[in-house]
Amino acid sequence: MTHAETTPRTGKRVLLAKPRGYCAGVDRAVQTVEEALKLYGAPIYVRKQIVHNKHVVQTLEAQGAIFVEENEEVPEGATVIFSAHGVAPEVYEQARARSLKAIDATCPLVTKVHQEAKRFAAEDYDILLIGHEGHEEVVGTAGEAPAHIQLVDGPEGADKVTVRDPNKVVWLSQTTLSVDETLETVARLKSRLPLLQSPPSDDICYATSNRQHVVKEIAPECDVVIVVGSRNSSNSVRLVEVALDAGARAGHLVDYAAEIDDAWLAGAGTVGVTSGASVPDDLVQQVLEHLAARGFTDVEEILTANERLTFSLPQELKRDMKAAAAAR
Ligand code: SF4
Repeated sequence: MTHAETTPRTGKRVLLAKPRGYCAGVDRAVQTVEEALKLYGAPIYVRKQIVHNKHVVQTLEAQGAIFVEENEEVPEGATVIFSAHGVAPEVYEQARARSLKAIDATCPLVTKVHQEAKRFAAEDYDILLIGHEGHEEVVGTAGEAPAHIQLVDGPEGADKVTVRDPNKVVWLSQTTLSVDETLETVARLKSRLPLLQSPPSDDICYATSNRQHVVKEIAPECDVVIVVGSRNSSNSVRLVEVALDAGARAGHLVDYAAEIDDAWLAGAGTVGVTSGASVPDDLVQQVLEHLAARGFTDVEEILTANERLTFSLPQELKRDMKAAAAAR
């Protein structure tokens, strides 16, 4: 039984999900840009959005970060940071060719999937990469072994797969997918490929699954679930879907509290609140203030997991920080 189920429903209340917001990979990526700005000075170029959150990107832009789509937009010899979603090997080569100083903020849990892809490709496996077509992380992972990897975009994609040898096939996945939908995709793949191997460890990361798990706990109690996050944030979008699948009567994604439509709250008794892994908690606090101003003052935090994981900053940045400190 969840904490939520033990509380009598009186008036307007908020069920606040925990864990929510920043994961270890996002925290590290944002800190990487901040520390690089302090160390090298503005401007610092960042290839793609460092994390998929509008507010974070705008805040870093105001501090002197310049976001670009490709390395060609970075002046020769300048510093470029690669985003948390990871890049294909050719992106490092392009950076070398332009004499860029590259700092890699790829989340170590994405790097883990890259390593798996390289290892299975070296063993000549067909790799079925479950993920969303065009997502930066998928582009980066697929770039590790394009001849061996085919994308499977959801359960329907499973029916289109063809492999060279059904005895030598493995599935891997994007880190930010719906846990349940991925299980469905894998089951569908296995019905066609019974010897399909699983990744050595879960590719969907701890932060994605923890945030989905707590939303599933609160959703059946909620008239509406508000997820703070940006539209291009895979794990934030998944949280709305998971909430609806788990029984929330409505679910909405907002970047900012001001986007909450009063009509969503009309007649609502319980509002669920959570946020994607790229969202700073002050945006959630603003949502709580917005709700409190509309009578939702009773806030109950529902905790389903404690997260203590942290990642150290990229080696190349740490080395320069150490050298700068020694020179002082
Ligand atoms: S969501 Fe998961 S994979 Fe992505 S940055 Fe966070 S911890 Fe890393």
